[in-house]
Amino acid sequence: MNDCIFCKIAKGEIPSTSVYSDEYVYAFRDINPQTDTHILVIPRAHIESAANITPENSVETSRCFEAIAKIAAQEGLTEKGFRVISNSGTGAGQSVFHLHFHILSGPGLGERLI
Ligand code: 5GP
Ligand code: ZN
Repeated sequence: MNDCIFCKIAKGEIPSTSVYSDEYVYAFRDINPQTDTHILVIPRAHIESAANITPENSVETSRCFEAIAKIAAQEGLTEKGFRVISNSGTGAGQSVFHLHFHILSGPGLGERLI
């Protein structure tokens, strides 16, 4: 997608603080962290949101989750604990329409959201 900010970040056209990168997935630190560790994990392929995951593209999501496990280990979050969130649609607070998974870890996350 030409105008997608996360496509541009994945291509290195917009700078970001890289945490993990492979052929299919890119992960970087959120520009406006909500807690101690706040990382965004995106597929390099442009998929709008979790509402657009299909049998044809769901492999992109599994690659993201394989990356999430590696990033958690790399960042020391496996034992500490972490939360993965994906907002889908403006009603859920999605502001960038390229599928992404927030990894959050820090104080207060023991209080349950759901
Ligand atoms: P959403 O609100 O769509 O679930 O999450 C979008 C996230 O992207 C927000 O947490 C926001 O801070 C982050 N974000 C937006 N623009 C940029 C950017 O240019 N660079 C980085 N690193 N994060 C961004
Ligand atoms: Zn995109």
